[in-house]
Amino acid sequence: MSGLVARGDRVLDAIAQEGVTALLVTEPANVRYLTGYVGSNGIAVLSPAGRRLITDGRYSVSAREQVDGAEVVIGERDLMGEVASAVHDLGGEGPVGVEAEHVTLARAATLERRLAPIEVVPTSGIVARQRIVKDAGEIVAIERAARVADAALMRVLADGLVGRTERRVALAIEEALVDEGAEGASFEVIVASGPRGARPHAVPGNDPIPDDTLVVIDLGARVDGYCSDMTRTIPLGVPDPALARAYEVCLEAQRAAVEATRPGVRASDLDGVARSVIEDAGFGDAFVHGLGHGVGLDIHERPGVRRTSDETLVAGMVVTIEPGIYLEGLGGVRIEDLLLVTDDGARVLSGAPIPSVPTGAVPAGGKEGE
Ligand code: ZN
Ligand code: ZN
Repeated sequence: MSGLVARGDRVLDAIAQEGVTALLVTEPANVRYLTGYVGSNGIAVLSPAGRRLITDGRYSVSAREQVDGAEVVIGERDLMGEVASAVHDLGGEGPVGVEAEHVTLARAATLERRLAPIEVVPTSGIVARQRIVKDAGEIVAIERAARVADAALMRVLADGLVGRTERRVALAIEEALVDEGAEGASFEVIVASGPRGARPHAVPGNDPIPDDTLVVIDLGARVDGYCSDMTRTIPLGVPDPALARAYEVCLEAQRAAVEATRPGVRASDLDGVARSVIEDAGFGDAFVHGLGHGVGLDIHERPGVRRTSDETLVAGMVVTIEPGIYLEGLGGVRIEDLLLVTDDGARVLSGAPIPSVPTGAVPAGGKEGE
């Protein structure tokens, strides 16, 4: 895949502006993005003079199969001797950049000692900024991951939910993801029914799923290292009218934001599109997270789609749109699609149908105040 060489070229353009002569890449997804290496112990060193992927003997065969556009070097388990050689060979005496978000204080101290007198300079987001816009190969993998998740969810829903435990349903989804062609789930599947649905990141529990409520199911597949992410909220029976109303509002907010997703839109404004629908309906305090996030090699990556984001959408970004309404003691609703921003709008990659608005139960008279 010569796409990897092009990615490295873009990173070299970026490091030139940071005033460093070489970049030490340690964050695993960044290492994979730039070299193809998939393993637990790899460091890439990039400079205009060359590119090296340094790993240990456990990965000598797989690294040579995976890596493209970089020389594979096998070192001791701590890799530090080979890193020092690579920095000297490729960066000369100039300052070397490290990924500040991913280098521990211990490793920074080791690097400073081993590389002295070469200066070690913290850098931030150099590779993450490149990863934000996906190339054609990445989009193919993400689309496949989305389709796998669709198929897995539909298979598991066909067996019904009432009476099964959340944990069993989560496990069935994970198995179905693998059966449909995923390497695995892209994060731990969330299945949250009844009042547990009011927790956005609930851990599946061991009690049977009740009837007459909502079940939040959040899942994703990993294909060729790339993630998908989707949430469906499944109405069962006749949910409480407040939940039925929350579902209706959440769906309206989600549709409005999907409709508004296109290049040139500020991520913070997109959050506002969904949030204003939910606030106008009186549920503003119950939408406790941002609208969405970028998805790629990591399940959560740039751009953040939230009020505080300073990013603007451009074609090639892959983002989620996932408003949620969480009613303490009652339940929750979240509806999440994965979208590819295109030249003139966005394409929804999630294909599992979104259930229509449930009919709420008629309130049983006077007692329930909220
Ligand atoms: Zn999700
Ligand atoms: Zn998400």
